[in-house]
Amino acid sequence: MKDNSTDRALWLNGSGACCKRSGPGPRRPWHVVLLGPPGAGKGTQADLIVQTLGACQLSTGEVFRAAIAAGSAAASPAMQQALAAMQRGALVPDEIVFSLLRERLGCLSCTHGFLLDGFPRTHAQAVALDALLAEIGVHLDAAVNFLADDAEIVSRISGRRVCRTCRATTNLELSPPNVPGICDACGGELFQRADDEPEVVRNRLTHYHATAKPVLDFYRSRGLLHEIPVGRTPKETFERTHKVLLAV
Ligand code: AMP
Repeated sequence: MKDNSTDRALWLNGSGACCKRSGPGPRRPWHVVLLGPPGAGKGTQADLIVQTLGACQLSTGEVFRAAIAAGSAAASPAMQQALAAMQRGALVPDEIVFSLLRERLGCLSCTHGFLLDGFPRTHAQAVALDALLAEIGVHLDAAVNFLADDAEIVSRISGRRVCRTCRATTNLELSPPNVPGICDACGGELFQRADDEPEVVRNRLTHYHATAKPVLDFYRSRGLLHEIPVGRTPKETFERTHKVLLAV
């Protein structure tokens, strides 16, 4: 049976952490970047791709949320600056994101491949990723950009809830939990991310529109960009994504 368990300890905790995943990877390890506005469903698509094709979902936003959960008082000054930017809905400064990535180079060179979710978000980050991958001899297979309009995003994000225990994401409108406030998958408590409040979401969208185009142009010019309109359901979007990935 295919082992798709991805504890992502190294990714979430940084160098020094040990990952359960070791040894030879799949015949084809995937190296994919997932792009698109916040709330387009990148995390959900990443989960579906992981289940089908393997590789680890590496979300930069999740590293920052893990640092918050660990207690921001214990965070380094750089991480505290990152968390303050995140809580405003602003982008974390590039240098902080780069050092986070450098500490996790093992995840980028992992024989199981990777799905980068939420990185790169600026042109400088795209250039830095390109240089890092060249350094470790990894070729990117594709940059997948999910297309969704702003009104749809604000309504999706305001209904989004995340499980504190298993990280599963649900939507109060599209897939309400059987018991309000409780995760269907594991019984954990569902909560709303602080950066999913409507005012913060609008801020995140403003930053997205200000920074996305150069990143998309970067991958388009390299022939790596694939644009996928989000479907009515995650399954529909996944079917489109899967088809595109299998053709690259
Ligand atoms: P996400 O979960 O990807 O929506 O990220 C949540 C928040 O983390 C973003 O709104 C940013 O504040 C911060 N963040 C995550 N990834 C990056 C990145 N690559 N560059 C800058 N900020 C980031």
